[in-house]
Amino acid sequence: MVPFEYEAPGTIDEAIALLAKHRDEAKVLAGGQSLVPLLNYWLARPRAVLDINRLPLDGVRVEDGRLRLGALTRHATLEDSDAIAQACPVLAEAAALIGNVRVRALGTLGGSLAHADPAAELPMAIVALDARLTLQGRDGRRTVPAGEFFRGYLTTALEPVELLTEVDVPVTRGMGHAVEEFARRLGDFALVAVTVLMGLDRAGRVDEARVAFAGVAPTPIRAPGAEDMLRGHEPTAERLSRAATVARDSLAPESDAFVSAAYRKHLAGVLARRALARAMTRAVESACASA
Ligand SMILES: Cc1cc2nc3c(=O)[nH]c(=O)nc-3n(C[C@H](O)[C@H](O)[C@H](O)COP(=O)(O)OP(=O)(O)OC[C@H]3O[C@@H](n4cnc5c(N)ncnc54)[C@H](O)[C@@H]3O)c2cc1C
Repeated sequence: MVPFEYEAPGTIDEAIALLAKHRDEAKVLAGGQSLVPLLNYWLARPRAVLDINRLPLDGVRVEDGRLRLGALTRHATLEDSDAIAQACPVLAEAAALIGNVRVRALGTLGGSLAHADPAAELPMAIVALDARLTLQGRDGRRTVPAGEFFRGYLTTALEPVELLTEVDVPVTRGMGHAVEEFARRLGDFALVAVTVLMGLDRAGRVDEARVAFAGVAPTPIRAPGAEDMLRGHEPTAERLSRAATVARDSLAPESDAFVSAAYRKHLAGVLARRALARAMTRAVESACASA
């Protein structure tokens, strides 16, 4: 590890001022589960590390139909919180698939989104949820839709003098959800992952469908063709299977050191079919429970 200055600002303004002072030479430290390995291997050599763990960014609240999560919300909180389980259970399911219990105890929502690993579960989930991200810099706050936040491999819309402070997602009560993934070993990053959200109208037809993938492109991506072919239709086994095929065929993953592009694409189709079926079952159960 290359030596660096360590700062632990006590307020957001102080943190922004330190970012402005150090600009590209600074790295924000949240849970450290991605940053510390980069420091250890000299892949990141910041002049200053700004530890944001003293900032008041770990709040979880439901307000105006949206779940608002501070950037320092730990993966373990996403997994275990009753409020999150009720308002947006897909986040709990996605968080439970991350790494291991140690990583989930320390890693944060904001850190996962800012790091933007293309195979990570939370970026995919928030893209499926059409989340909004609050970024705070010297000129105040701005809100960026999740679909515009991820710009490329490990690259986001965050400017050097900006902090991700909050993420808000719509409350998804009543919608079915499922996250499916395949990893080479338990606890590894997924080769491919998929998140599905599905809502049904009173006639049992799909009135909302979201399908998002991780591990198949430099950023998490939606499969709008599959979503369109579900909306307005009964979620029959045949339609779900066709939607999974449409989703798979819309992807153009690349081969890498682990697997071929063809295998990744095949996996995406299989996982999408499973996730669609599970989300549909939950949507039907929820519709029956509220009838
Ligand atoms: C063994 C192991 C297995 C893992 N497996 C998985 C997995 O299966 N799936 C998965 O998704 N992840 C996995 N991870 C990564 C883990 O989820 C990390 O917690 C996450 O990627 C980063 O969150 P963090 O809070 O630790 O961020 P840090 O490591 O502290 O920071 C990561 C990056 O984000 C920036 N940053 C952090 N917070 C902010 C903020 N609020 N505003 C602006 N920039 C910020 C930092 O400067 C840094 O560049 C694994 C990690 C380990 C060590």
